[in-house]
Amino acid sequence: MTIGLLLDIDGVLVTSWRPLPGAVDALAALRERDVPRMFLTNTTSRSRAEIADALSDCGFAVDPEEILSAARLTGEYLRANHAGKRAWVLNKGAIAADLTGVEVVTDPDDAPEVVVLGGAGPEFTHDAMSRVLEFMIAGVPVVAMHRSMTWSTEQGVRIDTGVYLEGLEKAAGTTIRAIGKPSPIGFRAAVEMMGLEPTSVVMVGDDMHNDVLGAQASAMIGVLVRTGKFRATALEKLQADEFGPVPDHVIDSVADLPALLDRLGR
Ligand SMILES: [Mg+2]
Repeated sequence: MTIGLLLDIDGVLVTSWRPLPGAVDALAALRERDVPRMFLTNTTSRSRAEIADALSDCGFAVDPEEILSAARLTGEYLRANHAGKRAWVLNKGAIAADLTGVEVVTDPDDAPEVVVLGGAGPEFTHDAMSRVLEFMIAGVPVVAMHRSMTWSTEQGVRIDTGVYLEGLEKAAGTTIRAIGKPSPIGFRAAVEMMGLEPTSVVMVGDDMHNDVLGAQASAMIGVLVRTGKFRATALEKLQADEFGPVPDHVIDSVADLPALLDRLGR
C-alpha cells in the first residue's frame, strides 16, 4: 500500500526556522524511499517560495509546489467565494503572491466587503479587533486564515488568531470561517494533490487538535510528535477521556517517522 505523508512544518521540522534534531536526516531518508509527500502549514507570514527557501537554508530540499500554506488556501477560498470583493487583510508578511486576484485594502475605512484575519501579531490591536467586531455586527463576512490558538518560539509560547476568534464570535454572536488546519479544506486539497485516499495519508504535527485530531476527523492517520508546542499534560488529559479521540500514533520526534512508516507497512 502506498502511504502518503502530510507534514506540518513549525514545531515538527523547525522551531523559529532552525531545524530540529534529526529532522533533516529523516526527511532525506523518506525522500529516498519516494514516499509521496506534501507540507501543510498554518504559516501566514511567508509566501510558499519563502517557506521553501527557509527550509532549504535549514537543509531540507523542498519545492514550493509541495507546500500548502494557510495563506495560499485562503487566497483560493477568496477567489472562489468572494471574487471581486474588497478585502481588508490584517496580516504581517509578504504573502501577496498567495492573494493574487484578491483586491486587498489595508485601511478599514475603505469599505471592505470581506475581512480577512491572518496570523495574530502586532496588527491585532484593540482598535483593529474592535473594527473587526463592528464589521461582524454589520454582517460583513470575516474569514480567518486559520484557528490556531498558539505557536511556539525560541522565546516561548505565543497566542495566535484562534484566541481572538473565540472572543469575537462570542461578542458578535456569529461565526468566522477559518481556512487552515484543522478545517478539512487544507487536508482535502493536499490529499487530492497527492492522488491518494485520505485513509492512506499520514499527517504529522505537533498541534494535537489542529494537526492530528483534525486530520483524523478527515479520515487520515494522525501522528503526534513530542516536539514544538507538544505538552504532555494536554495529551494525558485527552487520553484520560475514554470516549474522546486520541492520536493514532505518538512519536518522540520526526526522526522516528521512518521507523513508524516501516511498522505501518511502507
Ligand atoms: Mg506546528
